[in-house]
Order: sequence, then C-alpha cells, then structure tokens
Amino acid sequence: MDPRHAPLFEPIRVGPKTFRNRFYVAPHCSGLGVEYPGAQAYLRGMRAEGGWAAVNTEYCAVDAESDDSPWVQARLLDERDEANLRLMVERVHEFDALAGVQLVYMGADHTGYVTRLPAGGPSQVASAMSGHSCYAMDKSDIRRIQQSYVAAAVRARNVGFDLIQVAAREGFSLPLQFLWRYWNHRTDEYGGSLENRTRFWRETLEQVREAVGDDCAIVAGFCLDSFNDTSDRAFKVSDDGVGVVELLDDIVDLWDMQVGHLEDDVSSSRFFEPFWQRDYIEQVRPYAKKPIAAVGRFTDPELMARAVGDGVIDIIGAARPAISDPFIPTKIREGRGDDIRECIGCNMCVSRFNNGGGRIVCTQNATVGEEYRRGWHPEKFNASDRAEDPVLIIGAGPAGMECARVLGERGFEAVHLAEAATEIGGHVNWVSQLPGLRTWRRVVEYREAQLAKMSNVTVLTGKHFDLEDVLDYGASTVIVATGASWDRTGTSPLTHVPVSGADAYPTMVFTPEDVMLEKRAVDGDRVLVYDCDGYFMGSSLAQKLAMEGKKVTLVTPADQVGSYLFHTDEGGHVMHALLDLGVELVTSHALDGIEPGTVSGHNVYHSAKKISWSVDAVVLVTQRRSRNDLYEQLTAAPDRLRSAEISQVLRIGDCVEPRVIAEAVFDGHRLGREIDTPDPATPLPFIREQRILGWRDEDYDGVLRHVLPLTPVSRTSLR
Ligand code: ADP
Ligand code: SF4
Repeated sequence: MDPRHAPLFEPIRVGPKTFRNRFYVAPHCSGLGVEYPGAQAYLRGMRAEGGWAAVNTEYCAVDAESDDSPWVQARLLDERDEANLRLMVERVHEFDALAGVQLVYMGADHTGYVTRLPAGGPSQVASAMSGHSCYAMDKSDIRRIQQSYVAAAVRARNVGFDLIQVAAREGFSLPLQFLWRYWNHRTDEYGGSLENRTRFWRETLEQVREAVGDDCAIVAGFCLDSFNDTSDRAFKVSDDGVGVVELLDDIVDLWDMQVGHLEDDVSSSRFFEPFWQRDYIEQVRPYAKKPIAAVGRFTDPELMARAVGDGVIDIIGAARPAISDPFIPTKIREGRGDDIRECIGCNMCVSRFNNGGGRIVCTQNATVGEEYRRGWHPEKFNASDRAEDPVLIIGAGPAGMECARVLGERGFEAVHLAEAATEIGGHVNWVSQLPGLRTWRRVVEYREAQLAKMSNVTVLTGKHFDLEDVLDYGASTVIVATGASWDRTGTSPLTHVPVSGADAYPTMVFTPEDVMLEKRAVDGDRVLVYDCDGYFMGSSLAQKLAMEGKKVTLVTPADQVGSYLFHTDEGGHVMHALLDLGVELVTSHALDGIEPGTVSGHNVYHSAKKISWSVDAVVLVTQRRSRNDLYEQLTAAPDRLRSAEISQVLRIGDCVEPRVIAEAVFDGHRLGREIDTPDPATPLPFIREQRILGWRDEDYDGVLRHVLPLTPVSRTSLR
C-alpha cells in the first residue's frame, strides 16, 4: 500500500461499534429493497467482500404510510421484512463488515399506491417530487410515527444491523420536513425556531437510542444545506446546519452528511467536481465531535486521503464509486489504485430507479445487481475448458472492449480485438468530447489499461475488417461488435419515416457523428437541433453549438427537453445551462420538412398548428441504426465459414440494438462469461426471485448452480 493512504485503513470507533477502516457504503437505492432479498444480500455483501467497513441498505420504510411504490424500498414493518433483510446482514457480516439500515418515513413524498394510506407531514403542503399532499400531524400522530421508528429500529437490531440511521435527508424524510421552513409551517413547539424544528428529529433519535441501547450505533443522516435556494425559507449550512449539529452532536454516534437536493447529492460529473461538498462540511466540522462520513463521488485515493488527512471528514462515504467498483478499498490497500474501475458520474445507475423503480445497473460495472441472480462476481471469472479457441472481436467500442476483457480474465489464450479507428473506445471517444462528458472517457481508459496487462489479448487498430479479412484471419469464434450510427434521414420513434428533404440537402443536414467525429463545419449562424432521442445527445450538441456562438433552436416532439436526463438527475442542471446559453427550447413539435434555409414542423397534439424556422443547418438526433453488414455477410455464408473453420459467429452491443453504454458493456460482459455454453447467443436463465408456486429456496439455489459454478481462476490477490 502507498503509505500516504494508510490513514484510510485506521480503525475508528463509532459509538459501540468499530469500523475496520474509513470506507462506508452510504445508503443508496437499488430497486431491490425487500422484494429481491437474494439480490439485495449479494449486492451489499459484495461491498463487504470488497473491503468496505460498513454497508447500508437503501431507504427503509418504518411505517405502512411511508409507501413509495412503484419505487422499491426496503421495509421493516413485520417479520417477513426482517427475514428478507436478515439475509443481507448475514452476507455483510460474513465478510466482517458492519451492516447499516436507513430508517425513513416519507411524509408528503410518499405515493401510497400499494397501501392506499395517507401520510403525515409537519404541515399540509404538497410534495413537488411525488405530486401528493399529506395530513398535518397532530401531537398524537407525532408520537405514533416516532413509535414506528422505534419499532423498526428494534426489528433492525433483532435482525443484526449494527448501524441505525434516522435520516433527515432531502427527498424523502420526515425529520428533514420538520427541519426545513419550506415544509414546516407550524406554530407549536415543533415549528418556528431552529430548536423547535429540530425537536421531532431529536426526540426520535433519543427514543431509538433508548430502544436499541448499546447494541447499535445511531447515525444521523443529515442534509446540511438546501443548496442553490435563494428563498427566505432556505436551509443554510452557516446557521441552520451548524445549529443542528450543535443541538444533536451529543446524541448521535456518526454523522452521515450530504448537501442539496437529490440531483445535487447524486451529483453528475457533468456539473460537479468530486467532493464539491467540502466547503459545506468544513463549516460544521468544528461543531461535530462525533465522526463525520460524507459522499463526494470519491474514486481517487489521493482525494480520499486528503479529505480524511485534513480532518474534514473521518470516513469516506460512497454510493456510486462502490457501485462501479465494490473492491476499491481492497485495491487501495493492495497498492493497485490503477485497477480501480472509476465511476464516471453518468447516473445511469439511479436513472433506472428514478424511472419507475427499476433495478440498478452501472455503465462501468456490468456485474452490479447480477451478483445473486446470475452469480457474477466483479473480480472473479471462471476458467473455460475451451480456452484454446482463438477469438476475434471486431469493433473495440464498449461492448467489444468489455468482451475482450472478460475473455482475457477467463484465460482465453488468443483474444484478438480489432478496431478500424486508430484508437479503441468506439463512440465513447467522441461522445466524451461533448461539453462536460470528459469523465466518460474512463469507460475506455479502464478497459485500455486492463487489456494492456493481459498478454493473451492482442489489440489491432487502424484496420477495417471486411468479410474476406475475417475469413482469412484464423479465429474459430468471431464476435461482431461493430456498433451503430445516427440515422441521417430523420426517421424517428415518432414517425418511423424520414423527414422530407433530409436526403435532398446533405450540406445542410448533420448527424451527431458529422459534428463530433468527422468534425464537419456547421456553416451559418442559425442551427436547429432536432432531438427525438431524449437522452444527452441532443441537449449536449445544442450546448456545444451555442458555446461556439451559434443561435440554437432545440426542437423535440417530447413535452420535455432531454426527458431521460430527469431520470439521471441531470435535467434541471442541463435546462439551466441551455437557458444560460440562450438556446431556444421548443417542445411538443415534430419536423415535417427541410428546405434550403427553412425547416417546417407541426405541434404533435394538433397537426394543423404549423410552424417554420429559418435556419442554416439542421442536426438530426432522431435514432441510431445498427452497423450490421459484416454480421449479415458472415451469417449468410455458412459454407465459407465452415471452410474457414469458423465454428461460431456472434454479435454484441449496439450492432444488435442501439442502446446506452451500460447495456453495450453488459452485452459484451455477458457473452464473455457465457461464450462456452451450448448456445452462447441465448443468455442463460437467471434467478427471478418471484414467487413461484410449489418452489422452495433450494430450487432457486439449484438454478444458481446451473447458471454458474463459481470456480475463480484469476486475480489471486482478491481471493
Ligand atoms: P458498442 O457501443 O456496441 O461497443 P461502438 O459504436 O461504440 O459500439 O463501437 C463500435 C466500433 O466498431 C467502432 O469503434 C467502429 O470503428 C468499429 N468497427 C465497426 N465496423 C468495423 C469493422 N468492419 N472493422 C473494424 N472495426 C469496426
Ligand atoms: Fe457511476 Fe455511472 Fe456506474 Fe452510476 S452508472 S455508478 S454514475 S459509472
């Protein structure tokens, strides 16, 4: 280990518990909760195995009124919830880590879609997040909900949790709603002064401590500042944050601090530097005698060592860095910092959850969420009994690079990764040149560095492979990973047909690749970007062109510019940036035709409502199309494949279906793991963890054994 990182491995006392080091996986949603107990246990357990001292659940409801369905929470309402979470605690304890639970009552942020119960809040104000209101709690409601916290805490203690967090964090927790004037309009002893507004949280913490005694450490999950709030109801670290720490420091064992709303807390790398929260935490540090943990998208050991060494925080909190690489602590301890699979801050992980409660995924780590249901381990790979089969992968985008990496880890003796461009990386190479997306290059850098260490993987760049090249190459397995390109005709999810004129005036029409990869000059001052994709591409190009001085109009048939960006918690920041740059935003409009100097369109809700724009250029961000020619030529020539002794031709990534980077990486990873199954094109079954009448737990385990008998072969240091 680098001696500068040694302070990160000093144990620290937290109330009645001891952290073995300074690494703490903060509570974060996963879409697993108590609904997928196996996935929950193995996801969290993997971090314990990876060396983290403490690992938390996601938000955990203490009362049936705190129902957030369809978003999936943990719950501690009865014995069944206890049973499902016990599996997680056991798995975390198996690797000598502490298990934490984050207790939450959502107040007006609830949905109530399953229980159909109303929820209480300090005052009857509606939630901008859920769109729901609440009932104003009277004193008996306050006592009742505090008892729910106590009952859940006792269940947590009985299950074996070591850390019990009572959260006052933005987006979902009653203690915060009492703290913030924005929510709390009361005039009794629970409203008004800071001391009064802190009363609910203080009483709840005291009652929980009283109930669980010295068995558990009590954690205060605290949002220090409402961030970017200029109203007179803002919660400001300089007075409110400091004041709360002074009022509660005596009764908590650990502070788990965060700043701002969800889209600030889950800070996208596009807008926030790592540990941007430092200035805020420094303000409360002098008032906190108890240890402080805080998140900061920490992936760099130097930054971590400085944050702890300078005494700003005591414990490195992480959610996304641990999703991207559960083995960060182990890698730092072993002096293998260059093996860290760094989070790129893209927020694809949280987007699935935000988009209706879906399961966790990760752009960098294909194994996240697959630890139980597919039996995948991020650092361990099965040996193959077909390792001598030479494999040729054509296309070194995310899918091809990841597949080569997995085959390399599995000990395949000759893996050749071929790329037409002069560098590997595929579309990430130019996507990461869009404003704010520099950090996305880590998708390439991590894989490039790993492949460079593998003597069994050969990377060939600068050669475009055609059918004859592949047939002559001498590989028995060919994997096509040739990616996708943006459509040039304006065909979109809305119309499924081209925009008239798109092909007639090629000098006026651009695709994202024209602008970013070919660097075609966009002539003229007025540019219309047509975004039917709804993720980052349209708004990023609008941003780039506006930054270059163009007058940009961004048109989308959707009701919201970049609607998926609101799932990645970037939407508000992107809108702000576009408005700052003077980009004209036109929603709910589709293009009809392109002519020199003019683009026409209509309102998607009323085709007679026509509109036209005078522009010099149009950038079409409508949909991508798979680059499939090579795969089709190969599979159309079975006799030639046989004579060339090619036994199988497979395809992965965007050349199958254009998808987000996370799915291309997943596809490459999946094939790498399963290439030696009887039918590698068809994924092996996985454990679905749904109720199956007549099935027993052992039946699930039976499926798991069938999916992957785990016999690790590489990475000896991690075993
Ligand atoms: P994915 O996201 O599926 O990995 P990308 O589009 O990012 O796909 O990457 C595909 C890569 O394949 C690109 O870098 C492209 O240059 C490369 N490629 C496409 N066709 C060929 C070919 N015939 N020979 C070599 N490389 C190719
Ligand atoms: Fe980081 Fe993106 Fe993975 Fe989330 S999805 S952990 S932000 S790399």
